[in-house]
Amino acid sequence: MPTLSDILTHEGENREQYFHAIAPPVIQTSNFAFDSVESMRNAMTDELSHHIYTRGNNPTVEILRKKIALLEHTEDALVTGSGAAAIAAAVIANVGQGDHIICVQKPYSWTYKLISQFLPRFGVSFTFVDGTDTADIKRAIQTNTKVLFLESPNSLTFEIQDLNACSRLAKQHSIVTIIDNSHASPVFQNPSDAGIDIVVHSATKYINGHSDVVAGAICSSHAMIDKIFRSEIMTLGMTISPHDAALMLRGLRTLPLRVRQSDASARILADYLYNHPAIERMYFPLHPSFPQFELASKQMSGCGGLITVRLKAPDKESVLQVISNIRKFLIAVSWGGYESLMIPSIVFHDMPGLPDSPIHWSTIRFYVGLEDAEELQADLDQALSILVRDK
Ligand SMILES: *Cc1c(COP(=O)(O)O)cnc(C)c1O
Repeated sequence: MPTLSDILTHEGENREQYFHAIAPPVIQTSNFAFDSVESMRNAMTDELSHHIYTRGNNPTVEILRKKIALLEHTEDALVTGSGAAAIAAAVIANVGQGDHIICVQKPYSWTYKLISQFLPRFGVSFTFVDGTDTADIKRAIQTNTKVLFLESPNSLTFEIQDLNACSRLAKQHSIVTIIDNSHASPVFQNPSDAGIDIVVHSATKYINGHSDVVAGAICSSHAMIDKIFRSEIMTLGMTISPHDAALMLRGLRTLPLRVRQSDASARILADYLYNHPAIERMYFPLHPSFPQFELASKQMSGCGGLITVRLKAPDKESVLQVISNIRKFLIAVSWGGYESLMIPSIVFHDMPGLPDSPIHWSTIRFYVGLEDAEELQADLDQALSILVRDK
């Protein structure tokens, strides 16, 4: 098995094919020509490994596919135009009319929509379960269950599933297991080692890591990847552009450095926040206070930069005051880039014509980026001080 360094620097590159250039070229073309009927015929028998048309396979994208597959310890991988596309392709490829999906109860919002609103239109039913106890998953299995969808950890309160137990259970019932591994990244967790069938990523997050590309990845056996490619990817056109793939190859070179930095800084901030008098509750999977700390430490060698807190705030006004005093965390969705971010739950309260979010208004999810941890802590410290000043 190649090392992480080998994967990032050497694997998948075909330098003799492009003048021994160090950086792979952007093969910005929609289609490819053949020198004979025979060679075109030959390519048509296996579009996934030939270059015919860029909705299918493109050489720049192919380098990225090979590297991501190696990072996730799977035989093959596909790169898609978004994480949502990767999730949809992996799920849709494995269900049909009359089938049933089991999914963890708080997945990414568009995964929730796919399973609870989109697929029921095509006769696919679902059960959401609290996956922290594998027994709940077992109880939800029906004779028509075809997919078990996991997200471990999820990206708000970080509940995790026992991946070995889930894959063993699913195999007994011929259920395909899919996991959204965006949060842990391929550096900290490789679910295929635990027997999970398909690993999907929002590559927008850590894999690209520079907040300039929206992309997804699907990692699995060659047979599964070929099946998803021939049906969902080609039919629904979930492809990524060669230019975006080249940006991702560039981002990928520093993946381990970036996630380790985010992880190290997040651990410092998690300790700080846990002990802060203005914090009611702090969620971070690798903090000893986390309810599933033991399993989290067993399954993941790190967990990246997401931390969620609930403030001890007397009213919404004081939460808004804290948020406006924070300078170094930008208010934005997404995460996994170089820049620190926050999503205050209060955004989703008091919105005209919409119901309030079920998540308490004093909750904030922070993403700790690549800035200096001490500076980030000092910034939070001055902002949170207004909540303790009067005590
Ligand atoms: C962002 C995200 C997605 C969706 O990915 P896109 O690239 O935005 O389509 C899926 N799962 C998780 C956990 C995410 O954070």
